[in-house]
Amino acid sequence: MVEIKEITDLMAGGINKKDEELIKKAYEFAKRAHEGQKRMSGELYFAHVFETAKILAKFGMDVQTIVAGLLHDVLEDTKITEEEVKKEFGEDIVFLVNGVTKLGTLKYRGHERHVESLRKFFVAMTNDLRVVIIKFADRLHNLNTLQFLPEEKRSRIAMESIEVYAPLANRLGMGKLKGEIEDAAFPFAYPEEYAQIEKIIKDRKKLYEKNLEEIYKELEKELSKNRVKVVEINYRMKHKYSLWKKLLKREMDIEKIYDIVALRIVVENVEECYKVLGIIHSIWKPLPGRIKDYIAVPKPNGYRSIHTTIFTGSGGIAEIQIRTKEMHAEAAYGIAAHFAYKEKHKKNPDERSKFKWIEELKDFNYELDKPQKYLEHLKTDFFNDRIFIFTPKGDVIDLPEDSSPIDFAYSIHSDIGDHISGTKVNNKIAPILSKLKNGDIVEIITKKDAHPSGKWLEYSKTNIAKKNIRSYLEKNSLLSRLKSLGRNS
Ligand code: MN
Repeated sequence: MVEIKEITDLMAGGINKKDEELIKKAYEFAKRAHEGQKRMSGELYFAHVFETAKILAKFGMDVQTIVAGLLHDVLEDTKITEEEVKKEFGEDIVFLVNGVTKLGTLKYRGHERHVESLRKFFVAMTNDLRVVIIKFADRLHNLNTLQFLPEEKRSRIAMESIEVYAPLANRLGMGKLKGEIEDAAFPFAYPEEYAQIEKIIKDRKKLYEKNLEEIYKELEKELSKNRVKVVEINYRMKHKYSLWKKLLKREMDIEKIYDIVALRIVVENVEECYKVLGIIHSIWKPLPGRIKDYIAVPKPNGYRSIHTTIFTGSGGIAEIQIRTKEMHAEAAYGIAAHFAYKEKHKKNPDERSKFKWIEELKDFNYELDKPQKYLEHLKTDFFNDRIFIFTPKGDVIDLPEDSSPIDFAYSIHSDIGDHISGTKVNNKIAPILSKLKNGDIVEIITKKDAHPSGKWLEYSKTNIAKKNIRSYLEKNSLLSRLKSLGRNS
């Protein structure tokens, strides 16, 4: 079937007969279920779930996730029941479809609800991250057809995407997806600002491209002279929404933004990355303070790459990013990229050493040759040793499991930790010495004369809390000893 091929062609590492049958079955099932339903765009409803499945295949997701993508709207929008899906596709897939359906009932309605949706997202994630990734694909396709919706609904969905979905994608290291979500939502969320950015880019695009062209030529020559094996050189324009955000921070002065365009050099391995950096700096002078080594020190969301900004000689400035191809894939698809590499391992075990970086990733601990086990991990253990606690304003603090309000307070500020007098958990007074649960909203009540006690140490899990409590206690016992010394003499 031609249309199914559109999905399977996107799947990294190919597909076996059994999986192909499963996708075919889901395809037919969804097509029948949505028969006669149309979208606001006039398209068949089925086109939406089909595109969602394609996005998931492009992300490199596993076959169950793709199947769940095809089925993701049958429970909400058709007469199909949970039992039927379970009977046809099994426990696992019905779990995913159900998860997506539940997330779908959330609506962004200003700040209060924003806190609530984020909270539900995080809780869903701790059950099975794949549910959230299906929701991302669903949202991305909906954003691309937003112009067909009534205006009020349009801007609500656009805002929600920027406020809830994009930050979450970013947190999961799915940088490309974050940029795509924001840029699709930007014109509907902030139409005037969007027009402004469009104009700025249009005015300067030619200049940037000419500039890049020059660097590119010289660089290519030097790299081949030095026998660097280049996988790919390309360039990217900064995403429009993030350019706007940055302009706001820089007094709307475009001259203060150095990374509107960036040249990307993709090479085979980490050593080559540093070699390329050396070559670049021997040709062009780098801007002080703009050399960033995210390979040695990755960003908290796992992003790895070397960035440097150079004076191009003709008066211009350009950012260059250097990375391996694994880093490149990971920067685009984050956590989802792991599925893609998992698939490749099955085909070519010799490539294994190249993917050592996966093992090194923080928070990951799994055996590459046991993909099934990894899936289990993703379902239950991914954030298992972490809990997500919310401030009343909706900020998320992530803490180790069994943390107490004391840990939470010190994670916000040592001054708050040092003066806890009480706490409210989910709006109810709760003991300071208690264990928090994933998704709790915690408020700390402070008093000037409240202070840490030795007992707090037993109830704190984080180093930051322990360190601060100890330092307070030490200072204090020293003070009281000095005082009593003073009295005795
Ligand atoms: Mn949908």
